[in-house]
Amino acid sequence: GSTSRHAKRRNRRIGGGLIHEKGILLVLSGPSGAGKGTICKYLLAHNPSLKYSISATTRAPRTGELDGQSYHFVSKDTFQEMIAQDELLEHAEVYGNYYGTPKNYVQKLLDENLDVILEIDPQGAMQIKNKFPEAVFVLILPPSLTELSDRIYKRGTDTAEVIRHRLSKAVSELKFCASKYDYLVINDEVNKASDKILAIITSEKCRVGRNMPVVEEIICNNN
Ligand code: 5GP
Repeated sequence: GSTSRHAKRRNRRIGGGLIHEKGILLVLSGPSGAGKGTICKYLLAHNPSLKYSISATTRAPRTGELDGQSYHFVSKDTFQEMIAQDELLEHAEVYGNYYGTPKNYVQKLLDENLDVILEIDPQGAMQIKNKFPEAVFVLILPPSLTELSDRIYKRGTDTAEVIRHRLSKAVSELKFCASKYDYLVINDEVNKASDKILAIITSEKCRVGRNMPVVEEIICNNN
């Protein structure tokens, strides 16, 4: 009947088969130096339905970072105002600066059936887990802590003391948070690690739980 034809049309429109169209919220966390930034660039370049949520932060821009691209760089007052106006999905203090995820932008992307990457710290990730239990949580780690400190040293943006502090923080976070994440990806090679994350997205999209409307439609149209 006409409902069935309509359903077929709708399902065909969805790329890659009978997959229900609804964006996935992908939360990526990992210690600084784990290579999250490079992985994100790769993911965005290889999957056009993925979008990056640009956080607000009170930290100063690093060289090369553009406002509205890497972050929305805001003052402490503006950040407090954003919290007061309930404009942030989550927020946390990391190394003395504030970071938060603007709610409206993420909502807009999800409404457009796009997948959204939140590259946030574990405190923020746990807030998201409470609000969006269906979000997907991926922990990115370097092959070893030695590798991690080497990478941060090479980046040359932090003093030895800051690096020591970051490493000990990374270890204690791992202890408390690792088991709360769904997936662990070791970043030994950016391409390989990123491909694993793309595979995670593909698998998550095939979860029966995310596709119940499709199942119901098929049942409905064949009765
Ligand atoms: P960085 O200053 O090196 O760019 O980021 C420092 C830490 O803040 C990283 O672990 C990064 O994942 C985290 N971060 C960046 N944006 C957000 C955010 O919006 N919310 C939270 N909770 N953490 C964030």
